[in-house]
This record gives sequence, C-alpha cells and structure tokens, in this order.
Amino acid sequence: MGNMPEGDTVWNTARVLDGALGGSVLRQSDFRVPQLATLDLAHWRVEGCVSRGKHLLLRLVSPAEERAMTLHSHLRMDGSWRVYSTGENWRGRPAHLIRVVLRTLTTVAVGYHLHDLAFVPTADEETLVGHLGPDLLGPPDTPGGWDPDEAVRRLRRQPDRPIAEALLDQRNLAGIGNLYKAEVLFLRGIHPTAPVSTVENLGAVVGLAQKLLTANKGRWSQATTGSVRPGQETYVYGRANAPCRRCGTLIQREMQADRVTFWCPACQPLTPAKRPATSRPT
Ligand SMILES: [Zn+2]
Repeated sequence: MGNMPEGDTVWNTARVLDGALGGSVLRQSDFRVPQLATLDLAHWRVEGCVSRGKHLLLRLVSPAEERAMTLHSHLRMDGSWRVYSTGENWRGRPAHLIRVVLRTLTTVAVGYHLHDLAFVPTADEETLVGHLGPDLLGPPDTPGGWDPDEAVRRLRRQPDRPIAEALLDQRNLAGIGNLYKAEVLFLRGIHPTAPVSTVENLGAVVGLAQKLLTANKGRWSQATTGSVRPGQETYVYGRANAPCRRCGTLIQREMQADRVTFWCPACQPLTPAKRPATSRPT
C-alpha cells in the first residue's frame, strides 16, 4: 500500500534530512516552483530539520549569520524528500516531479512533488504551523508538542462532528492521516460516523493514536497489527471486502467527507440512536 505521508513518515523524513544536511553548508540550490524560483541558498548553513505534524521545517542561517530562515514543505498525499550521495543516480521518482534540489559537498537532497513551499523567517514559523493541534510525535512541553488533554479539549469543541473527520483535522491534533484514523477507530470499536460527543474515553483514542505513530517512528513501513509482512500490516485500512481479522465480517469502505474510510460493521457498530436499528449487525 506504500507509505501514506502521515505523521510518522514526516517525522522520519525530518530525521533523514537533519542527518544528511544538518550542520552543512549548501553549495547550490535549485527551486522549481514559481514562488521560490529566484531563491539562491548557496553558502547558507543548514541548522537542522524538524517536523510539526505533517509539516517539515528546514532551518537555515544566511552566509553572514544575520538571518535565520525556514524552508517549509508539506508532503500531503504524494510528496517526498530523497537523499542521495553526490554523483549517485537519483532513483525512484520522475524528474518532472522535482520541486527542490539542495546540494552540499557530499549530499544531494531532492524534494519531489512538495506542497506549500515557503521561505519564512524562523521566528515566524508559527504563521505556518501555529494553527496545528498538539503534535502526536512532538516532544511534550515544547511549543506544539504532544499534549493529550489539549487534543481532547480541541476534539470536544465540535461535539456533533463525526469522529473520523475530527481525527483528521490537524487543528485538533497533528499527525494522524487516513491510515491511522481507520486503524485507531477499529481498535477502539468506534464507528467512523459516530459523533465526537458519543465517543467514550476520547483520551484513550488519542493515546492509542500516539502509541501507534510512535511505534512506526524510525521505520518506513506502517503497521498497526504488529506485523510488517505485506498484506498483514493493517486491520481495516486498504482491506475493503476482506474478512475482519477479528470476526470475519467483510470490511466496509466508504467515502466520508472526501476521504476514504474503512471499518468492520460488527466490531464498530453504529450507534443505535443515530442510525436505523435495521442497519445494525445482528
Ligand atoms: Zn470485525
């Protein structure tokens, strides 16, 4: 199923970029997006790279050390950064998807199909990421870092909203994408359309999400079942019409607010008050 750029993938990407570029001086840059086409980062030093939710913040210092700036990028559904050694072939993705190339003496970082590229003073990063809820993978007690109570408080602001949509809203908590959304709801036995107000123990829901993302930090495969074998990584995500791993009922797939969602109708029953009793599993 490939890697959906969810919080863990973005966190991993930040770590790779930080390791490849952090502390190094750029020799050359090449921006293939109109808004940054004239930007030249030659001789700028890379301070490091961090993630905030699904946003990447590459921090740089100007040659005379008088400006601290941040290159922001977002992977959305399809973006990626790849790191190559100087002289190595750029494998993997078509050249027309390249948006940024950053070169040091030894390393080339290539950004493919990146979104929302922006170059802002590091002091103004909050204008780009300040709207985000607590970052599931952010260190607690740092700005925007993980804070389960705050995540629950934000989710509760819209009690009538379907829980699946609320979990994807990065203003509530940052880092959950479609895969973790579906898997967390399965593991907690919650129907994706259940209103937030009917979900018992929201704290346990966000706690589980944080645990699942954390478990996949540092590796590129995304597994919630404990198995990284192909075809065994998830309970419901990507498994429409396959039997539920717990009860054998066929997994359902449906669009919900423009995003696909997967669930087991038996393990995640509809709330009787919200839906006709006839559609409940028997
Ligand atoms: Zn089931």
